[in-house]
Amino acid sequence: MTAEDGRRYLDGMSGLWCVNAGYGRKELADAAARQLERLPYYPLTQSHLPAIELAEQLGEWLEGDYVVFFSNSGSEANEVAFKIARQYHLQSGNPLRTKFVARYRGYHGNSLGALAATGQAMRKLGYEPLAPGFLHVRPPDSYRRPEGMTAEAFQLLCAREIEERIVWEGEETVAGVILEPVITGGGVIVPDPLYMQEVRRICTERGVLLIVDEVICGFGRSGRKFGHHNYGVSPDIVTMAKGLTSGYLPLAATAVKRELHEAFRRTGALAHLRHINTFGGNPAACALALANLKLLERERLPQRAAELGAKLLGDLRAELASHPQVGDIRGFGLMAGIELVADRSSREPLGAAVVQAVLDRCREAGLIIGKNGDTVAGMANVLTIAPPLSSTDEDMAFLQTALLESLLPLA
Ligand code: PLP
Repeated sequence: MTAEDGRRYLDGMSGLWCVNAGYGRKELADAAARQLERLPYYPLTQSHLPAIELAEQLGEWLEGDYVVFFSNSGSEANEVAFKIARQYHLQSGNPLRTKFVARYRGYHGNSLGALAATGQAMRKLGYEPLAPGFLHVRPPDSYRRPEGMTAEAFQLLCAREIEERIVWEGEETVAGVILEPVITGGGVIVPDPLYMQEVRRICTERGVLLIVDEVICGFGRSGRKFGHHNYGVSPDIVTMAKGLTSGYLPLAATAVKRELHEAFRRTGALAHLRHINTFGGNPAACALALANLKLLERERLPQRAAELGAKLLGDLRAELASHPQVGDIRGFGLMAGIELVADRSSREPLGAAVVQAVLDRCREAGLIIGKNGDTVAGMANVLTIAPPLSSTDEDMAFLQTALLESLLPLA
């Protein structure tokens, strides 16, 4: 992409992890323009064809029997998930089930409930108290596991902390567990399949709903259609935004298993979800999303993400194997995290100024990358990389060269 001053950049972060199909896709703009001429607006308190078709398509993408509710942003998709979970329990005779368990370092949005679910202290500073009833446990960050413990044992320990929290709180008071398949903005923390499967078991046995936040991992970023497809677990609720339209227009969705939806069909004053929004499921955004899903499938971009990501991870691990300040290199589909440390034995996080200097050098070289950067809670410093899934081999070669050269002055 070309900036106002004429300089060219490669966007190694897909904006905010969202431009999955890449920039300049005329067919996406055309799909929205055609819909704007046909029917620019109609509320989903009624219905319209693009929303109906998109809900059907999302059902296919999810490979499960889901009912979809549209909104405007990832934050709102999560708020809707929390409301649905509480109301579902209320309507199923479990009115005490109102609490949610989330993980430290996870990110779920900027509104009072979604931020309460978020586990990054810096983002909450100055805004508390947030919504009550959100509890946090440690993330499955094997790089920072206790010395002497195997990664496998640590992953199981992290999952069982969720179970312990549910039991200590009183299982009959917990509505849901929310998690990203991979903690993305919090530092690309990739769990073992064991962890995810254990969390699924715990939720099922304890009557707690599993809410999977696919706002970043969805729509091919993970190398599959959705992040949870990599783990063989079936969520009760899935939230999505960002890659749903490849970031071209705002749109979000909350998908719930049909049996949850059935609970909302029972009679009584509270028998439907009372969450009206004016713009959620806007017809042009839905038409664009439909074109985006077609494009992602036609160009096999989820598979492309898996291939490009595997090569990137392999190359970075080989090239940086002896870099003294590179503590860990992690990846999942087409996203990667490089954790920088003062030295490898202490694993002490490298200072924020040094990390910023790497970002600046990348930008100088024409590459935009990101970082997690929440140092208030002692979070490690992780460089993040998530280019469009449509990146060419030349784009990836440029990205790798610029990144590696920007890391060299540290060594
Ligand atoms: N969930 C995750 C995993 C995210 O990364 C984000 C945003 O970065 C959100 C939710 C919130 O989405 P939005 O910024 O569209 O409200």
